[in-house]
Amino acid sequence: MSNLIKGNTGEWEMVIGLEVHAQVTAQSKLFSGAATEFGAEPNTQVSLVDAAMPGMLPVINEYCIEQAVRTGLGMNAKINLHSVFERKNYFYADLPQGYQISQYLHPVVGLGEIEIDMEDGSTRKIGVTRLHLEQDAGKSIHDQHPTKSFVDLNRSGCALMEIVSEPDMRSPEEAAAYLNKLRMILRYLGTCDGNMEEGSMRCDVNLSLRRPGEEYGTRTETKNVNSIRAVMMSIEYETQRQMEVLESGGQVVQETRLWDPNKLETRSMRSKEDAHDYRYFPCPDLLPLEFDQAYVDKIKATLPELPDQKKHRFTQEFGLSLYDASVLIAEQNRAFYFEEAAKGNDPKLTANWVINELLGALNKAGLDLSESPVNAKQLGQLVARISDNTISGKIAKDVFAIMVETSQDPDTIIEEKGLKQVTDTGAIEKIVDEVIAENPKMVEEYRSGKDKLFGFFVGQVMKKSGGKINPAAANELLKKKLA
Ligand code: ADP
Ligand code: MG
Repeated sequence: MSNLIKGNTGEWEMVIGLEVHAQVTAQSKLFSGAATEFGAEPNTQVSLVDAAMPGMLPVINEYCIEQAVRTGLGMNAKINLHSVFERKNYFYADLPQGYQISQYLHPVVGLGEIEIDMEDGSTRKIGVTRLHLEQDAGKSIHDQHPTKSFVDLNRSGCALMEIVSEPDMRSPEEAAAYLNKLRMILRYLGTCDGNMEEGSMRCDVNLSLRRPGEEYGTRTETKNVNSIRAVMMSIEYETQRQMEVLESGGQVVQETRLWDPNKLETRSMRSKEDAHDYRYFPCPDLLPLEFDQAYVDKIKATLPELPDQKKHRFTQEFGLSLYDASVLIAEQNRAFYFEEAAKGNDPKLTANWVINELLGALNKAGLDLSESPVNAKQLGQLVARISDNTISGKIAKDVFAIMVETSQDPDTIIEEKGLKQVTDTGAIEKIVDEVIAENPKMVEEYRSGKDKLFGFFVGQVMKKSGGKINPAAANELLKKKLA
């Protein structure tokens, strides 16, 4: 598939690198004990450290460090046994310290990679340059008062992992696939909840254009892109804008731009600072982080099975299609649910029921899987009753609808409603005989060669039995009797 874009003067290639800020899921902040809960009253979760009162000293939160290492391991990245916190100096009203404690030359995590899944089933590896830890700034609020701005410091000092990709992506779809997979990995690891709407995962989009095969061009960095859809739209917009600049003989200015979610456009925010503008230097209040390999190995031993491994296992062990496996592993609890339901059952049939019926019903009811009225064991039971011919697939759908309504076990419903399939051949024969006796004209036509009528007889038999006859058994008997 070619990702090249046609301009008036020839073809262009997009070059995209993403910087993701992922807030570490932790009870307290990176350098203070203040709480981190989302949505609290403004300025109620601010310690003296977060407010940068004179003389306050940062104390490292060991749990946050561990989460960063976990995340690095989940991206197959190099964990640096020696890393350093540095001060990144700039002034802003929501940054009371006047600097952000971040990492620069020696980040905690080095080179790694993330495998992305494209729509056509192909995969591609995207390089991760680094992951470093830093503290978040507070939040400026400009829309609550006509002439005043407010500052909420609740977020000040929360632990962020900045995950920087290599400029390896070549289309909006690849950028979306990268963010999807990264978010999935973070959620599996439990190191970040990945909620872009709540701002716990934020993305800056770096984009430049080049002629195929040439050197990278000048990039712009677009901030404030708060959903994967917005990332894709901002890439489309910025591509058009840069292409117009370049094709009219101009030059792209290296700058920071802002995505406007209402106007659906990017606009210039400020010229891009270079690293030297920030006057980085090692933070004198904090010692470098020093790990021994045993510490890293211990964390590694606790990693869960990650999305790619799970997908691979589901196709190998259960014989599922790549598509089914991808749907099932998209969320960790969905994969757990499937495996629980599939215990002792036909995995493909179970996968169909989870994907088509269960997810369909939840979607319709606007429920998350964690709120499902039907638990995995119950769905597994239902699948078992289809496989052992207690009920047909069609009746199973009726039973399932009742399960969704009442959360009852399928066996209880089958028993109470008398939905068991008729397996007694005598009883099936009786119904088949009745149908044949009641439709002499049809029988004649069928026997004189109108094969298509067979379906009619099957339908009549099913109807008479209230759908409780095993269709295969009915078919067999009808064939014999109509011959
Ligand atoms: P900065 O602090 O200046 O934003 P970072 O190193 O944190 O620098 O991030 C730079 C990001 O820009 C990376 O994601 C990188 O892949 C991307 N990038 C670098 N050069 C280009 C380019 N020419 N075109 C597109 N993206 C680029
Ligand atoms: Mg950056």
